[in-house]
Amino acid sequence: MNTPRYGVTTRKKVESIRMKSSQRYKCPRCKTFSMKRISSGLWKCKKCGLVVASDAYSMSVEKI
Ligand SMILES: [Zn+2]
Repeated sequence: MNTPRYGVTTRKKVESIRMKSSQRYKCPRCKTFSMKRISSGLWKCKKCGLVVASDAYSMSVEKI
């Protein structure tokens, strides 16, 4: 039996990285968790279309 090249451990790692970068944040305009990272430092609200510039991998909008 062949050992799979990409085991469960690797898959879990990739998943956690993807979860972090695709995490949703609260939109300061419509107050829904629809903010998604569209590129490095740019976040866009899927609901109202608001674009916010922030950190590359996190967002501090909720604190404002
Ligand atoms: Zn919004």
